[in-house]
Amino acid sequence: MKLKILLVAAEVHPFAKTGGLADVSGALPPALKKLGHDIRVIMPKYPCATKAGKKIQPLKINLKLPGFKEKGTLFESELSGGVPVYLIRHDGYFNRKHIYGEPGTTYPDSVERFSFFSRAVLEAVKNLDFKPDIIHCNDWHTGLIPVYLKSLYRKDAWFSKTKTLFSIHNLGYQGNFPHSHLKVTGLGESLFREDGIEFYNQISFLKGGLMFADTLTTVSPAYSQEIQTAELGCGMEGILQKRSDHLYGILNGVDDTVWNPKTDPLIATNYGPKSLSQKKQCRDDLITMFSLRLNKKTPILCMITRLSEQKGIDLIMEAKDALDKEDISLVVLGTGSAQYESFFKQWSRDRPDRIATALKFDESLGHRILAGSDMLLMPSRYEPCGLTQMYALKYGTVPVVRDIGGLKNSVQEFNAKTEKGTGFKFKISQTKFFLKSLQKALSCFDQSKTWKKLMLNGMAKDNSWEFSAKQYVRLYRKSL
Ligand code: ADP
Repeated sequence: MKLKILLVAAEVHPFAKTGGLADVSGALPPALKKLGHDIRVIMPKYPCATKAGKKIQPLKINLKLPGFKEKGTLFESELSGGVPVYLIRHDGYFNRKHIYGEPGTTYPDSVERFSFFSRAVLEAVKNLDFKPDIIHCNDWHTGLIPVYLKSLYRKDAWFSKTKTLFSIHNLGYQGNFPHSHLKVTGLGESLFREDGIEFYNQISFLKGGLMFADTLTTVSPAYSQEIQTAELGCGMEGILQKRSDHLYGILNGVDDTVWNPKTDPLIATNYGPKSLSQKKQCRDDLITMFSLRLNKKTPILCMITRLSEQKGIDLIMEAKDALDKEDISLVVLGTGSAQYESFFKQWSRDRPDRIATALKFDESLGHRILAGSDMLLMPSRYEPCGLTQMYALKYGTVPVVRDIGGLKNSVQEFNAKTEKGTGFKFKISQTKFFLKSLQKALSCFDQSKTWKKLMLNGMAKDNSWEFSAKQYVRLYRKSL
C-alpha cells in the first residue's frame, strides 16, 4: 500500500539549513518518493528560501488557526524528484535573518513561532485536502504536533487514522521554556504534568514529542542506546527507557545528488575511485584559496562544523601545542560560540601559512574544503549521527573521529595489516587519546599505498538513502 506521509521540519535543504537536520529532511523525502509513496514536506518560509534556486509559488490558502490570533498563508515548491514542499508564511515569525536566532541562541518568542508553525501544519493539510497516514516530525520545533493531535485535535475526524513518528536528531536541543509560556501554545494546564509536557517545572517541546508520538526514532543505532543512559540522555533518559519498545535507530544516508565527488559542481575538479589522483587539484585549490605554505607531503586536516561544545572543540584547543609541532595544516569552516571562534581566528593569525579559518556558514566552501583535505577531524562529545564524516568518506577524506553515536556506526577503524576499515577512532574524550588516534592517521598517511587503500575503502561505502528510507517505511507501517 502506498503511504501518505507528511514530513515536518524547521529546516529543509536547499530552502534552509543550519545543520544535519536540513540534509535529512531534504534527502529522505525524495528517497521515499522513489519507493512509491506520496510524501510531502512542510516547513516555515524564511527569507533564505529564495536562495534555493527553486520556484516558490503562493497558494490561495489562508491558514486560520482556531484559538490563535495569528494567521498564515501557504506557498508551494519542490524538492528534487518532484516532492512537493509547502512553506508556511508568517512574516512576523519567520521573515528574519536567522532560522532560530543568532548562532548559539534562540529568539525569545520561540514558543510562539513553533506553536504557531505546528498548529498551522495541521490546518494546512486540511486545506490541502491531504489526509496523512503518518506525520513524521523532526526535533523539538515539531514536538507539539503529536501533543496537539492527542489533545486539541483528538476528536478531529481528519486525523482519526493519522499516526506520528518523531525523530530525534539531537537530544541536546529540547525547546524548554518557562511554564508561563504554556498559554501561548493553546494547550491546557492539564498537560503540565509529569506524563505530559512538564519537564523540571518548564514546558518542553521535545518531551511532548517523546511522550505523545506513536513511534520514536533517532539517527543512528548507537545513539538510540546512548540516549537511554544518564550520561547522554540529557535528563530524558527515563522517558526514553520507558518508551524503548517504540524507539529505533536508523542511520542517515548520503544524498548522492549533492555529495558526490564525481559530479559535484562546487569543487575544483571532479574525481572518483578510478581517478583519485585528480583529488590533488582540489587540494591545490584549497592551498591557493587560503594561501597555505605546505610541503608536498603535508596533510591537510579539516573541520566543517558548528562550533559548539558538542563537537569537542575543547579537545582541539587543548591539542593546539601538540598540533603546532606536527607537519600538518588545518582548515576550519564553522560558526558558533564566540570563545571557539576567537580561538581559531587567533590561531590562523599566528600561523597563516598552516591554519586557515572561515568563520561563516558557506555551503559551497564546505564542498571545496572536504574535497581538498586529506583528513576530517570530528572529536565530538556526542554525535547523534553526523553527516560530515559520511560525506568525507565519499570524498576520500579520511575521518579521525570519536567512537560514539553515529560516528561509531559509520566509521570502521583501519587496520593496516588487513587493510580493512575506513578511518581512525578514539573512545575516551580526552586530548591524549585524540592525539594518539591522529598520530596513527598521520603515520599511515606517510605510506601512500596504504593510505590510498584506506581512501578507497571509504569511497566504496554505500550509505545510500534508499536503505534508510526502507527502514523508515517499515516503521511507518508498524505505527499504523
Ligand atoms: P550537526 O547536524 O550536528 O550540525 P552534521 O555533521 O550532522 O552535524 O551535519 C552538519 C551539516 O552542516 C553538514 O552538511 C556540514 O557540511 C554542514 N555545515 C556545518 N557547518 C557548516 C558551515 N559553517 N558551512 C557550511 N556547511 C556547514
